[in-house]
Formats: sequence, C-alpha cells, structure tokens
Amino acid sequence: MDNKIDYLIVGQGISGTCFAWKSYIGKQTFKIIDKENSFSASKASVGIYNPITGRKFNVTWNVDKLFNELKYFYTQVEKILDEKLLFEKNIFRPFKDNSTINDWNIRLASKKYQKFCEKINDDGILTNTSGYLDVKKFLLSSKKYFDKLGRYKRENFDKNKLKIKENYFSYKNEEFKYVIMCTGISEKKINLFGGIKLNGVSGNSIIIQSKMENKNIINKGINILPIKKYVYHIGSTYYHNVIDEGPDELVNKTKNLIKDDISLIDSRFGIRSTSKDRRPIVGEHNKIKNLFIINAMGSKGVSQAPYCSEKLFNYINEDKNIDKEINIDRYRS
Ligand SMILES: Cc1cc2nc3c(=O)[nH]c(=O)nc-3n(C[C@H](O)[C@H](O)[C@H](O)COP(=O)(O)OP(=O)(O)OC[C@H]3O[C@@H](n4cnc5c(N)ncnc54)[C@H](O)[C@@H]3O)c2cc1C
Repeated sequence: MDNKIDYLIVGQGISGTCFAWKSYIGKQTFKIIDKENSFSASKASVGIYNPITGRKFNVTWNVDKLFNELKYFYTQVEKILDEKLLFEKNIFRPFKDNSTINDWNIRLASKKYQKFCEKINDDGILTNTSGYLDVKKFLLSSKKYFDKLGRYKRENFDKNKLKIKENYFSYKNEEFKYVIMCTGISEKKINLFGGIKLNGVSGNSIIIQSKMENKNIINKGINILPIKKYVYHIGSTYYHNVIDEGPDELVNKTKNLIKDDISLIDSRFGIRSTSKDRRPIVGEHNKIKNLFIINAMGSKGVSQAPYCSEKLFNYINEDKNIDKEINIDRYRS
C-alpha cells in the first residue's frame, strides 16, 4: 500500500494555510509544519482586502478573479470551522484638498473605478467591495483544526533532511509526493529557490482603543479598521530593514487623523516578502520536480493567497496553466 502523504506544506502563514485548506477541500492528504516565528507577516497583518490600493489609487491586478476567489474560499473555510472570519466593510477616504477631489472625479470617469464607488461628496469618497479577514482567528483556528487531525506540527524545517527520491520526497520519517514551500521572507535563508530574488519590507500594525465611533475603514495614508466597538486595528508602516521600529509612527499618524485620545493595546511587527515586479511567485522548482513555492504576497496576502493556492493546486492536479504574471517561470531566462 502507498503510505505517501500528498503534500508537505512548509509554513503556516496565510499562504501555507490557504494551500492546506485547498488540499483538505480537494480531499488530498497533507502535513503542515511551522516553526512558529513570532514575527511573520501574517501575524502582523491587518487583514484588509481592498480593490483600490497604493499612493496612486490603482485598481488591483486581476481584481474580479481575486476577489471572487477570496469570498468563495474563506466562506468555505468559515463553514468547516463554523466561525466567522471574513467581514465586508466599505472604505472611506477623506479628501485632503480640492486637487484630491478633482483627481477622484477624473478617475470616476472610468468604468473600472465607477463600480467601486458607493458615495462621493465634498468630504470624501466611500468605496465598496472591500473588507477584512480576521487573520489571527483564521490562522489559529486552522492550526487547531489541522492539529486535531494530526496534520499540523510545530517544527523548524531543515532542508538537509529533505531527501529527493525518484518519484517522491522523504522528510525525517515520512514520505511525500509534493513539497510546497510557503515560508515568506525566510525563503531567503532556506534558499531552496536560489534564482528568485525576494525583498523584505518590514512594518508594524497597532491595536488601539478610542472613543471614536465609526463603522467604515478610514484610509488616509494609513488604514483604520474598526474591529469591535471602540477598538481599531491600524496599519501599516513600510521599512526596508528588518528592525522593529515600534508603534510610534503609527500612533502619531493615528492621532493626527482621528484627533481623539487613543490608548495603545498592542503593537505587531512582521516582514513582508515581495518580488521585483510586486506579483506573487508561484510554481515549480526548475531542477527538482514536485517541489513548489507560493511566495511574495507583498501587502496583499489575504486576497492573493487563495487565488495562488487554487492556481497551484490545479496545476499539480489538472495540469492547468499558472498565469504568466505570477508564474515562477518569469524569473528564468
Ligand atoms: C504590518 C503589516 C500589515 C499588513 N496588512 C495587510 C493587510 O491589511 N492585508 C493584506 O492582504 N496583507 C497585509 N499584509 C501582508 C500579509 O501579511 C502578507 O502578504 C502575508 O502574511 C504573507 O503570508 P505568507 O504565508 O506568504 O508569509 P508569512 O506570513 O511570512 O508566513 C511564513 C510562515 O513560514 C514559517 N516559516 C518560516 N521559516 C520556516 C522554517 N524554516 N520552518 C518552518 N516554518 C517556517 C513562519 O513561521 C511563518 O508562519 C501586512 C503585512 C504587514 C507586515
């Protein structure tokens, strides 16, 4: 009898967890391991998905497909876990000055922006099709669920223990058909996929309490996300180093924006992994067959990880193509 487990998934951040659910729902076997790094990007994530992002308010790449998949995917997981994880919330962007109003009126001449506009007046614009994933709950509840099934283990992956056999891998005392590396910025150190260049962008998010009452996400340089009455999750900062700069920058920006007393409840730090062209990296190792990667989620792990997991799962099981924009092949000459 073949005792091989289908997948060894390394890393239980948003990416590894999404792929694990994909295999669970697809009735395949897996084991997911994580060293439980307290500074992972996923642990700092505010969890927002937003169709219009960045300083230039660009419409997210592949927004329709990504957002359809994210809703379908997290709703399936909610049903299995019997927990609410995904919340819809509009985003209010206050206007800074008249030129900001003009810029938005120009954008709204285009259909690709119109469909996201809920309301616009002299104070700002309210956009829709956004919300947030309770990332902490998603990761913890998934871990507990997989652990109960005997499929999760806290473990530091040691690449020297991964042995490549003819048609499978052995890792410690188990055998796997496929290995999926979802280790975020740690891939730089593990270095199984030497050809790809990952950059680390560190940052903080904070949880605060304030008397302010607001039901929408407020976006002005930072995102202020209401998670409970008087409690907000706020992000993010972006630094090109690996040092935890602490919560000060965010606390100051928050005070400037909501002009109210706030008290800091928690500060989180993580390092995002990004690629040169800011797209995820998904696909197979160029020399080691059946060794795969899902990485470089940048600032959009919540919306990109379900889509990338779906693409990789279908590539492995149905030989379907992975879109060229996210395919690891673009880094091969
Ligand atoms: C401050 C901040 C705010 C953010 N806000 C948002 C947001 O609002 N919306 C959004 O979509 N995205 C946001 N992001 C980005 C998002 O968090 C990332 O895109 C996403 O978490 C990446 O997930 P990942 O699983 O690919 O990587 P990671 O989260 O880095 O996970 C990698 C996992 O691999 C494990 N690992 C590493 N090495 C090993 C090893 N040797 N052995 C075993 N396990 C290992 C780690 O412990 C970790 O759990 C934010 C990021 C930061 C830092």
